[in-house]
Amino acid sequence: MGGDMLLREWRITEVLPCIVNPDWKRIKTELSDDISEVLPYLNAIISDAVYNPNGKSLTFRFKGMLVSLFPRAINLAQVPTLEEGKSALNELRELINKTWERRGEITPVYEKRTLRAKDILALLPKTNCGECGLPNCFAFAMAMVRGQKKLADCPPLQQYRENMEALKELLKTVGLE
Ligand code: SF4
Repeated sequence: MGGDMLLREWRITEVLPCIVNPDWKRIKTELSDDISEVLPYLNAIISDAVYNPNGKSLTFRFKGMLVSLFPRAINLAQVPTLEEGKSALNELRELINKTWERRGEITPVYEKRTLRAKDILALLPKTNCGECGLPNCFAFAMAMVRGQKKLADCPPLQQYRENMEALKELLKTVGLE
């Protein structure tokens, strides 16, 4: 790694069980360095990332886990094992540092994203249970984009705390929450 390294270390501060599946984990960390400046560059290269320029956070899926980057923290949810979480944290550190090294070649994206049904769908339970009164989760995502449904209208979602938090973050980025 060159002298331009942005993030030197992460340190796990909390490991909690995942609400959805108690065998999975939620991992909270503290970072040795402030990574806020790299977030718009990561937002530019991670196609499904959700960037909140006000709260300075970036949320995206990484190896099936849900990752949230903050200036001084990386939080992971839906992590199968602690070992997988640690290895994801190392890979994320590498991604952060490589992106920072390459920032001269990347056009940073500072904007809020527009709300897209596919981004909402990615975080819904995807069981197509119909409890929301619509035939499937995609119809629900479309209704949310049109402002006809709210997160509270999907009862199963209330069990998926991390997804709920990520969806709230997503809505905040477009000024809907
Ligand atoms: S209630 Fe939720 S999980 Fe069930 S179909 Fe509607 S959006 Fe999907």
